[in-house]
Amino acid sequence: MPPAPHLGPDRVYWCFNPRGLFNIRSAYESLCHHNLDAQDKAWNLPWAWKGPQSIRLFIWQILHGKLKTHSELYRRNIPVSDVCVRCGVSAEDILHAVRDCSCIKSLWLRLVPACHQLSFCQSNLRAWVAANMQNKWRIDYELHWDCIFGVAIWRLWFWRNHFIMAGKLVDSKTIYSDIMARASEIHRINISHLSQQPRHKEIFFGWLPPPWPWCKLNTDDSCKNIGEAGANGVIRNSFGNWISGLSMNIGESSVIMAEL
Ligand SMILES: [Zn+2]
Repeated sequence: MPPAPHLGPDRVYWCFNPRGLFNIRSAYESLCHHNLDAQDKAWNLPWAWKGPQSIRLFIWQILHGKLKTHSELYRRNIPVSDVCVRCGVSAEDILHAVRDCSCIKSLWLRLVPACHQLSFCQSNLRAWVAANMQNKWRIDYELHWDCIFGVAIWRLWFWRNHFIMAGKLVDSKTIYSDIMARASEIHRINISHLSQQPRHKEIFFGWLPPPWPWCKLNTDDSCKNIGEAGANGVIRNSFGNWISGLSMNIGESSVIMAEL
């Protein structure tokens, strides 16, 4: 909407209510109608990746665009240049840090077959990560490509940070050996009997409707460190339909008292 000074100062507008005012009913209904589209499914990829949790978390951070690259630090008004400290040529966003920097180009040229190198370097960040996690180019390795890719971007970020901290640029041959050794280890574990043994049991839980004709009241609270507390609740029938809701400011309170 274009600026319209004659309509008065800007104000916060809640888009799920025609009057622009927040209420719990509209928040609840907006969540009920939220559907996962194809793009949202990309968020499942890091958690489906077979390997250490630390690398899964790293991939998830990348999909969110949350790595603290120089471009990101600059965007947050931290007094640094946004230029890549390794090549000193381009702004360092995530794609530059783990794919496009001239200092690591030879590594990807070594990993990716020549017939795929052009398209490999053309997609945007999320599409690039998703395509590699799903091995869109069907890159054929003895190790699975998604395994190599996950380890590669994780280690490239490590070596980028190593350069910043130690001031020493490691050659691509060393990085290649490092990536392949770690990917081999993960691959061996994935195909061994260790990965077949259940390490944990998944339990799915969620809201259960009450039997007809009962209604169910669910409540929750929150409490800040300084003591301010609030509570809210929702009443739903046996079909899960909204009946009523509440939100209230409790004032100064402890976590336990707010729960009570
Ligand atoms: Zn660079």
